[in-house]
Amino acid sequence: RLISQAATSPREDALDRAIRPKTLEEYVGQPVVREQMAIFLQAARGRNEPLDHTLIFGPPGLGKTTLASIIANEMGVSLKTTSGPVLEKAGDIAALMTNLEPGDVLFIDEIHRLSPFVEEILYPAMEDYQLDIMIGEGPAARSIKLDLPPFTLVGATTRAGLLTSPLRDRFGIVQRLEFYAVDDLAQIVARSARLLDIGIDTGGALEIARRSRGTPRIANRLLRRVRDFAEVKADGYINADVADRALDMLSVDSRGFDHLDRRLLLTMIEHFDGGPVGVDSLAASLSEERGTIEDVLEPYLIQQGFMVRTPRGRTVTRNAYLHFGLPQPGASPA
Ligand code: ADP
Repeated sequence: RLISQAATSPREDALDRAIRPKTLEEYVGQPVVREQMAIFLQAARGRNEPLDHTLIFGPPGLGKTTLASIIANEMGVSLKTTSGPVLEKAGDIAALMTNLEPGDVLFIDEIHRLSPFVEEILYPAMEDYQLDIMIGEGPAARSIKLDLPPFTLVGATTRAGLLTSPLRDRFGIVQRLEFYAVDDLAQIVARSARLLDIGIDTGGALEIARRSRGTPRIANRLLRRVRDFAEVKADGYINADVADRALDMLSVDSRGFDHLDRRLLLTMIEHFDGGPVGVDSLAASLSEERGTIEDVLEPYLIQQGFMVRTPRGRTVTRNAYLHFGLPQPGASPA
């Protein structure tokens, strides 16, 4: 139960495993992260020590889980995966940690959602490989200390600011993943197509890449949906034209914005005069969770220059009006 599973179909999971990079060499893009990790991994291997605890942050689908499994693979150890919300009690994390083999990687996804009790257990475990827990209750309660094998904790979170500072300070390595460039995504699409035996040319890969919100997970998902379209509506081969028609049908627009991205921008323009508007008002207006807006939607829209975050709230930029062909208030007509 403490080992989490992604909530997709078994078949999609199997496809995902087939295309997930296993070595740093296969990990496309993220040049800064790759260069640093190559050095840290080689140094740790040379000293015959586990890699220092590593925090990876970045929006969903950018490769945090993939990087954690690459770390384990490159160190030649096993990966144990869990996530913040499933670890409810101190005993949950204790059970996982006492099952580690020396050098293993313990990956905690959504590490910002750990309960304070579990977080307290982690501090001495990370610092001294010591497990310090209370067993029993009332007068019979006592604290026991156990030695843990040396291990590497890899934590993933969408935003570094979500972590408490004592937890953040205990990571020796902090890596921030950036949205991927179109060329990197095209390379990922081409690689996945090769592994899944899908026919695609450079133009097709680029078109999917351009419309994937800078995110490998979306690129791989769109590749599979475009393949469906190509098999039914064309001869099964993906070129730029087939990709373009398939993505239009999927309501992914020319900038890669999907239905929800457009709804967010249009709500800001139509209901809040373009902003500034607070994230809670936006969440209420869209009937979406605040976290979805902050973690999934706005990072890409901000990075692409369609909205900005100001102390008074979120505001859309000129690009957003232009994208929808709407007149910008206050701007003189061209
Ligand atoms: P996260 O944990 O950040 O949500 P994942 O590590 O699960 O993201 O990545 C989602 C998918 O994208 C993976 O299945 C993997 O196939 C692909 N992927 C992620 N990063 C890369 C990369 N750098 N190179 C190639 N494929 C990648």
